Amino acid sequence: MSSLSPIQIPSRLPLLLTHEGVLLPGSTMRTSVDSARNLQLVRSRLLKGTSLQSTILGVIPNTPDPASDAQDLPPLHRIGTAALAVQVVGSNWPKPHYTLLITGLCRFQIVQVIKEKPYPVAKVEQLDWLEEFPNTCKTREELGELSEQFYKYAVQLVEMLDMSVPAVAKLRRLLDSLPREALPDILTSIIRTSNKEKLQILDAVSLEERFKMTIPLLVRQIEGLKLLQKTRKHKQDDDKRVIAIRPIRRITHIPGTLEDEDEDEDNDDIVMLEKKIRTSSMPDQAHKVCVKEIKRLKKMPQSMPEYALTRNYLELMVELPWNKSTTDRLDIRAARILLDNDHYAMEKLKKRVLEYLAVRQLKNNLKGPILCFVGPPGVGKTSVGRSVAKTLGREFHRIALGGVCDQSDIRGHRRTYVGSMPGRIINGLKTVGVNNPVFLLDEVDKLGKSLQGDPAAALLEVLDPEQNHNFTDHYLNVAFDLSQVLFIATANTTATIPPALLDRMEIIQVPGYTQEEKIEIAHRHLIPKQLEQHGLTPQQIQIPQVTTLDIITRYTREAGVRSLDRKLGAICRAVAVKVAEGQHREARLDRPDVAEGEGYREHIVEDTKPESISDTTDLALPPEMPILIDFHALKDILGPPMYEMEVSERLSQPGVAIGLAWTPLGGEIMFVEASRMDGEGQLTLTGQLGDVMKESAHLAISWLRSNAKKYHLTNASGSFDLLENTDIHLHFPAGAVTKDGPSAGVTIATCLASLFSGRLVCSDVAMTGEITLRGLVLPVGGIKDKVLAAHRAGLKRVIIPQRNEKDLEEIPGNVRQDLSFVTATCLDEVLNAAFDGGFTVSTRPGLLNSKLLA
Ligand code: ADP
Repeated sequence: MSSLSPIQIPSRLPLLLTHEGVLLPGSTMRTSVDSARNLQLVRSRLLKGTSLQSTILGVIPNTPDPASDAQDLPPLHRIGTAALAVQVVGSNWPKPHYTLLITGLCRFQIVQVIKEKPYPVAKVEQLDWLEEFPNTCKTREELGELSEQFYKYAVQLVEMLDMSVPAVAKLRRLLDSLPREALPDILTSIIRTSNKEKLQILDAVSLEERFKMTIPLLVRQIEGLKLLQKTRKHKQDDDKRVIAIRPIRRITHIPGTLEDEDEDEDNDDIVMLEKKIRTSSMPDQAHKVCVKEIKRLKKMPQSMPEYALTRNYLELMVELPWNKSTTDRLDIRAARILLDNDHYAMEKLKKRVLEYLAVRQLKNNLKGPILCFVGPPGVGKTSVGRSVAKTLGREFHRIALGGVCDQSDIRGHRRTYVGSMPGRIINGLKTVGVNNPVFLLDEVDKLGKSLQGDPAAALLEVLDPEQNHNFTDHYLNVAFDLSQVLFIATANTTATIPPALLDRMEIIQVPGYTQEEKIEIAHRHLIPKQLEQHGLTPQQIQIPQVTTLDIITRYTREAGVRSLDRKLGAICRAVAVKVAEGQHREARLDRPDVAEGEGYREHIVEDTKPESISDTTDLALPPEMPILIDFHALKDILGPPMYEMEVSERLSQPGVAIGLAWTPLGGEIMFVEASRMDGEGQLTLTGQLGDVMKESAHLAISWLRSNAKKYHLTNASGSFDLLENTDIHLHFPAGAVTKDGPSAGVTIATCLASLFSGRLVCSDVAMTGEITLRGLVLPVGGIKDKVLAAHRAGLKRVIIPQRNEKDLEEIPGNVRQDLSFVTATCLDEVLNAAFDGGFTVSTRPGLLNSKLLA
């Protein structure tokens, strides 16, 4: 061994500061170099230096090197190991990083640090004189029994290992040929010891001390091995191999890296991994790949980046539920009860879900369209998906697809990439641990697209029953059978779902709720849930229905119930504080009765002193239970109402009309405003508009121009050519969401008719419908959501295309009662219904003229 040749180290050594691992003379270790000083040292001594001397370094253990060389040198460990740099590997990109292979020669002690920059150099004193270790009788006598005892233990330890392994046999021979004095260092770095213990051995400069300290470590290792052998004897054949393999791996490392506990655990893990692969029920193809990979892993040094990669891969492979599934317990009647218990209203959705489940029960396979729930946020799409899993007794996993724009997100990265990982589908399966979960693909309408491929295309493969029984994730690189997974998708709109994906799904619309439905949902589901979450009981808080209605109309404006749920949460939090305070006070008021001492009373008085006057008055009266949430309490907790009815205010001028729009977030009322000014006949449109809406505006203007005479519509100078010397500006305020769609046609026409006639549109009318150039009104979609929005906004009359009359059946009875509906086939009818007293010329010709000429 190189460490045993007589050597004298230079009197000045460059210092390499390490903090991971301790290098002992006679052993070798790898250390990574990335701090500024160490990098400098490697560059100027090892990469540029040519003499053998320049490869000798002073390794100072347990001393973290500051990241930048601007910082002062930390306090250095007194004793270090002079080492020979055997190998330097590394690169300068992306940032400089080297790994050194160093072999310890002998101990030294720092006498004086001569310079600190660019790397520290110190005057040193050599402590071990290797040539002084002759195998003489003299030293043997001096150390006497100690060294003899140590030798015996060392032999005992080695003999417990498997002698048929060449490395073990070699170690046995080394024990005899090496001078005894070198043994403590070498054995300490081989057996299981902590860094702290190694540091103690390094600091033990006197041989006697070193022997004394190492013997207990050897004994510990021997006892450990004995125990291990005893316990493993009882295990099966497989496990016996563990004993054999473990020491082998350990010994093979003698001339190589420094051993520590981690590595030992790693070896254990690999054996466990191998066993898991053998016992796992993965298909043959996957099994073959695993066997091949574990063979490679065993041969790989742990410092290789690929080692971790391969190990992670194998761990995933054994963890995947190749054959593990839950048993479906499908009882349609129970499913109906469960769905009804968990969700109020949404009859259409529940009916369709039950049909779907019934077919599954009868046909016992999952081929068929994927259900896709489409509706505004907060209407319970996810929560129905969760209930489906519950009724089937399956695991549930939600995969959020919003913003996913890389197909590797679905299908995984190839393992050649650093940081590669499986896609979300395989990850999900690993999480749930069974191969037949319910996967909820949330927000499929928000899938993105990028240079990294189209995730929708990858999703197609996942969802296609013909293909998904051998879905190949790039990371796994073997097929996984997804045919048992039940996929349910959710989306806010179908417009942005890629058509090929849409084709494989059965769309079930989930419309928004009416106010009455929301009140019921709040009282049946949301409030009890919030009370439970906040540790409250109905005896402590009472929220009457009028309050809920107030929250719905004045604090939220949404199709679903998510904000409502949040507001209820805020109320519960506020009440929880009061209740907790009340309990505290009651407890404090109770205490004097329990402990009748005067001291107690004094204590209470003292306690209450710092509180404000109102608090102290409160203190006497704990709040009366239940705490009633009325409008005043609501204002205290939630602040002033956020939404007030503003409709009538905004309709106080001609040129404004209320339309109804459908957005992915549900129905909305939409004000359309128009104004005219001198100009050259241009039309300006502002607000978030889709292209179709712009076309509707042009259509409306053309129709009005062609009918100007009929309705006596004139521009500011009295001409029937409405655009002569006139510019028109149309604006769609409060339109942060693009409201694409032709359904604003009637509203624009009405708004412009109001502008050119100078008459006000009725303030409680809302309308929707597409128009043609000839003034016909065509049907539009989303009637239910739109009507609900009109109802929410407190409007009274809704104008809809006649061909949409059938859609009114979907609207709950109470909403229909509150509203009056006008069905129109042409714009004449719309205008007649939108203006008080109708709009035809014959009814109020005078008014039209007089206003316009004014
Ligand atoms: P989405 O997925 O449609 O955005 P969620 O499923 O997350 O909405 O629903 C939001 C919350 O509203 C959940 O707590 C859910 O339980 C509740 N919720 C929605 N609709 C109903 C309903 N009809 N009955 C009971 N709770 C409901």
